[in-house]
Amino acid sequence: SYDLSGKRVWVAGHRGMVGGALVRRLEGEGCEIVTAGRDVVDLVDQKAVHAFMAEAKLDVVVVAAAKVGGILANDTHPVDFLYDNLMIESNIIHAAHESDVERLLFLGSSCIYPKMAPQPIPEDALLTGPLEPTNEWYAIAKIAGIKLCQAYRKQYGRDWISAMPTNLYGPGDNYDLQSSHVLPALIRKFHEAKQAGAAEVVVWGTGTPLREFLHCDDLADALVFLLKEYSGYDHVNVGSGAEVTIRELAETIAAVVGYEARLTFDSTKPDGTPRKLMDSSRLHAMGWNRARSLKDGVADAYEAFLKD
Ligand code: GDP
Repeated sequence: SYDLSGKRVWVAGHRGMVGGALVRRLEGEGCEIVTAGRDVVDLVDQKAVHAFMAEAKLDVVVVAAAKVGGILANDTHPVDFLYDNLMIESNIIHAAHESDVERLLFLGSSCIYPKMAPQPIPEDALLTGPLEPTNEWYAIAKIAGIKLCQAYRKQYGRDWISAMPTNLYGPGDNYDLQSSHVLPALIRKFHEAKQAGAAEVVVWGTGTPLREFLHCDDLADALVFLLKEYSGYDHVNVGSGAEVTIRELAETIAAVVGYEARLTFDSTKPDGTPRKLMDSSRLHAMGWNRARSLKDGVADAYEAFLKD
């Protein structure tokens, strides 16, 4: 296993939800955490990234930096999602090779898988069918990132790996109702209903779709585990293995916020895919299994939301 103590670890994207969680998690590992804001290095700029990494003397790099956004953003800014993400990952991964980085962990997301992938989605469903058209720009860039890590392993023996997390939530999440995902949206809706004493909370769709959620601190724990223990060509799914209906999610959030409003299902809003669950049995078989319960995770996220 790989010993992180004393290593210089760059978390690229430390201002994001995942990067932030990773910095918190790494603090107990006895490594030197390196961060660099946009003012220090623009990750889309190849020269800037190479100059930064040549100077930084890094042992480990985690690529948690990406241009992210929901359906609407992907649809209106496809160039940003494809070009920016291709540049960010290519710049970092190639400069990591030039500067002899020992361990690199590249992060993607579950949207890399085909729209019609089997459920739960195993790692080998990658590139077996057409992608969901609304986020294919982001997905294509992330698939290229996985392949780039595999190519450096194949051609140069680089011990670099990729991880694909399921739907994430936690401190630092996006709570904007227009662009957020369901979990932060419902935290906000229940909180505001409680404050206003409202009788109902509107939940989009029918409430029957099934989703899997993972707290970003649990993801960070899994990523540190993979950095230490996993060395392999294939990317690894990171999920909790637990799925809930959107209705059950709403009831859990109601209990955490402490407000039992009536749920109104707005069926003019789309349900999206009926089920989205990752097959994380590969990770669980390696011995990682620390995902907190949904209720505990939501309670933590709500606490952070209240502090914001
Ligand atoms: P998805 O997992 O990619 O489909 O993205 P979302 O997290 O946005 O939506 C998941 C499910 O939650 C869908 O069935 C939505 O209709 C449902 N949902 C219920 N209420 C909300 C809400 O307030 N915001 C969002 N984004 N989704 C909601």
